[in-house]
Amino acid sequence: MGAYLIVRCPHCGRLLLSKTSYRTRTCPHCGKRILLRRAMVVSRASSSSEAAEVIRELKERGRTF
Ligand SMILES: [Zn+2]
Repeated sequence: MGAYLIVRCPHCGRLLLSKTSYRTRTCPHCGKRILLRRAMVVSRASSSSEAAEVIRELKERGRTF
């Protein structure tokens, strides 16, 4: 399966990648722990490379900080 989520960090507002099986994730930008259940899911992807592509697109559209 290998499903990935692109979520927005509720602390710093930046995007990060997570597997759907994870419950929590430490934000690589601000270092704070994120409860994925409560985080805003921006998009989904089936592979890490697809997810990285989605993040790049979102950044190009200027929807991140
Ligand atoms: Zn953060």
